[in-house]
Amino acid sequence: MVWLPGCSQVSPLRYRVASCTFTESGAFQRRSFAAYAPLTYGALVGASCGLAMCWGKIRNSALAGIVSLASSLFALYVSWVIWILHLMFPSFWILNPIRLALQPKVLWKIIVAVNAQGTWGFKGGVPMTGTGLWLVWVGEAGLLLGFGVLAGIAIVRRRPFCERCEAWCSERIKLYFGPAILPDEIKRRVQAEDVGWIATLAPGDKKKAHYRLDLHTCGNCHALNTLSLVQNLPKDRKTLVDKLVLSADQAAAIHNLRMNHGIQTSAPVATTNPSVR
Ligand SMILES: [Zn+2]
Repeated sequence: MVWLPGCSQVSPLRYRVASCTFTESGAFQRRSFAAYAPLTYGALVGASCGLAMCWGKIRNSALAGIVSLASSLFALYVSWVIWILHLMFPSFWILNPIRLALQPKVLWKIIVAVNAQGTWGFKGGVPMTGTGLWLVWVGEAGLLLGFGVLAGIAIVRRRPFCERCEAWCSERIKLYFGPAILPDEIKRRVQAEDVGWIATLAPGDKKKAHYRLDLHTCGNCHALNTLSLVQNLPKDRKTLVDKLVLSADQAAAIHNLRMNHGIQTSAPVATTNPSVR
């Protein structure tokens, strides 16, 4: 017998009934939901945490990762409390999860019991139990925690921080270039701040394969300018240059390039013509 706070005593039979109810009425939703739910939930938790850290001006990636991991662990725990309550009392939509959440040992006993009974089976078969179900749950937890941490760090790292103004850079311009360049070549040129060479590149379409330049500028002092290069090729998206600090002159040259770029995009440019500056 397992005692749940605020509830009547719950026998193993109750689990069986709850399991059967869940299997018959919710197994399909659970299975189709299972692959995406931890991933989406983790990403949402990480993104929310990342926005909160931006508000708190946290810009250390390691700290952002630790905070995101802690938040994701908390979210994982809460999800287990809610799911267990739903599993045991599917007819009740409003339950107080705090009492169960404050008793982790009780929650663990229930989880072990649910694992022994199983909750769902493939193609309506025998509910998965034991080691197999533990592995599924560990996989779900891994997805939630992994995406939570990745999303949290990504949100914190997406903009440079101006230490002088103690503010995130609020201005950004984006330039798109065609994919007919080798990644190493464009990366080397951008790192060399070779604006003259960049100006010769064909404009790209943001809806197709392209390279993208991001110029971030501090909206307060305009003294901090950084340049990032993102490669967006089919199945190969990554950041080649991350927040390279530019001089004011180089930033102004990129701004001018943007104006020329606007003119160029209205006229088709067939080929790239890389040339030495
Ligand atoms: Zn500033």
